[in-house]
Amino acid sequence: MSIPVTGRFAPSPSGRMHLGNAFSCLLTWLFVRSAGGRIVLRHEDLDPQRCSREKADLLEEDLLWLGLDWDEGGSRGGERYYQSNRFDLYAHYLNCLDEMGLLYPCFCSRGELHAAGAPHASDGTPLYPGTCKRLSPARRAEKAALRRPALRIAVPERVISLTDGLQGVYSENLATDCGDFILRRSDGVFAYQLAVVVDDALMGVNQVVRGRDLLSSTPRQLWLQALLGFDHPAYYHVPLLLAPDGRRLSKRDGDFDLGAVRASGASPEAVLGRLAFWAGLIDREEAVSLPELLGVFRLDRVRREDIVVDTGSGQG
Ligand code: GLU
Repeated sequence: MSIPVTGRFAPSPSGRMHLGNAFSCLLTWLFVRSAGGRIVLRHEDLDPQRCSREKADLLEEDLLWLGLDWDEGGSRGGERYYQSNRFDLYAHYLNCLDEMGLLYPCFCSRGELHAAGAPHASDGTPLYPGTCKRLSPARRAEKAALRRPALRIAVPERVISLTDGLQGVYSENLATDCGDFILRRSDGVFAYQLAVVVDDALMGVNQVVRGRDLLSSTPRQLWLQALLGFDHPAYYHVPLLLAPDGRRLSKRDGDFDLGAVRASGASPEAVLGRLAFWAGLIDREEAVSLPELLGVFRLDRVRREDIVVDTGSGQG
């Protein structure tokens, strides 16, 4: 018997949803619904400085305006899932990794890391040179008296590969492409890499559809899943929407946030049509409904390459 598909929306409620987020959510919805699966909504609000419940409410409202519904985890699905409510769980799994002897405290500041001139890993973060891994116990205690450390996990010299459903084979050597990475920041906030692995596993997520910018996080997540004894979901990394100058479409492109789009009088079907055209699902940009899109959705139609969109007057 095959296991039903469970996918997820995992937005970070740090601002109004923009068309780039809506694009990933639409594709998630189509992947899952076309397989008769269920969708979990989880607000990834780990960073209290940037995220709020009000923004989470607006995100849900924008998803529902587009017709992108879910089955569990938001105002329409029983208990709402906020990562900020799940720190005890992350602490438990962090402790499991600590008991394996894999964690060490890191006292380096961001400035020190950049000054070290370390080569950059694939996602732009500096490759950690291992400074704090080599501290003697006495030196560690001295530093701990002055400053609360972050916690890093020591990665092995190992190549981790996956076959992404859209991007094909992707491999990284954890030691040379990624380096020891942070699982809890010095201010106590758990890292995305840990939270996402714990939540996907505990929420039964077996299909992850998300932006291509996260492909380079996936080997780290696969490795953490293996350490913690979790199953690996199937991954589909969808293209990003880019501004003409090559930047990823972001909240800076004001015309592209759902607030502005809705205020312009556009219908949900017009927005879906635009997203579906960008995704390669329809040949012309025209209004389309979700049931119509479900009818034409096929994996081999989904574009693999990033999409440059005309940001027009939004650039000022
Ligand atoms: N919360 C992340 C974001 O909004 C997505 C994380 C994921 O899909 O794994 O970019």
